Amino acid sequence: MTVDVIVTESRSAEVGFLTVRRALPRHGRRTVGAWCFADHMGPLTVTEEQGIDIGPHPHTGLQTVTWLVAGEIVHRDSLGSEQPIRPGQLNLMTAGHGVSHSEERTGRYRGDLHGIQLWVAQPETTRHGDPAFEHHIDLPRLDLEAGTATVLAGALGGATSPARCDTEHVGVELALRPGHSTIPLHGGWEYALVVLAGAVTVGGTRVEPGHLGFLGAGRDELPISTDAASTALLIGGVPFDEPIVMWWNFVARTRAEISEARDEWTADDGRFGTVHSTLPRIPVGPPPWAGV
Ligand code: MN
Repeated sequence: MTVDVIVTESRSAEVGFLTVRRALPRHGRRTVGAWCFADHMGPLTVTEEQGIDIGPHPHTGLQTVTWLVAGEIVHRDSLGSEQPIRPGQLNLMTAGHGVSHSEERTGRYRGDLHGIQLWVAQPETTRHGDPAFEHHIDLPRLDLEAGTATVLAGALGGATSPARCDTEHVGVELALRPGHSTIPLHGGWEYALVVLAGAVTVGGTRVEPGHLGFLGAGRDELPISTDAASTALLIGGVPFDEPIVMWWNFVARTRAEISEARDEWTADDGRFGTVHSTLPRIPVGPPPWAGV
């Protein structure tokens, strides 16, 4: 059996003063299903002086999926949500037409912080809708031969996440012990792996943190193995066929929509609401095509 995995290196990116490993988007790989963004943050140490501290900023046309494997942060948004999140819990914010949020230190947590934030592009049918926020503490788990799969979004092997899902996609945390597991897939969906800790092997290809392992479509199952305790995110879905334009924190369909969102954030005209945070709003200059 030939198993092809296309491994691309993540790009270092600065988010506030955090350095993250951006696995998606990369040149030649814009989306995996509707997943359009993946930032692996940490592991890093939260101190009294330094934490995540990403001030209020806007989003459109996407869902943010926040998942920690260590630490604790607090989410605040323009809907009035104030939600601490810990490992094993899911924060899911749907931006629709517009929302803003911050991600902050809790003020009491000290120690390791390690996790991932992903975005899911919303389809045309929901991307103009109202914003929403969900916090899930009880996600379905599936026993694997050598580990546990926790379903964040969508369904895997009969386990269905309660989280809102606007497209046919799936997001799963694989917590693997040394050994081999077989994960059921949809043959018509495309998939990728982002390894957070340890390393996994698929068909002779090793995928480590700092990389995206693109698995493509056409598999009914994924054979995966590891020789040490490892944690990875498996993301996948029906290939997203709407042509998205992404810039800064916005997902849209045209540059004009992006420019309008940027101008409305800058004008603070109410579209993105107000986050009750002590951190300052994050400004952004005009997009490169604005010509000013
Ligand atoms: Mn955000």
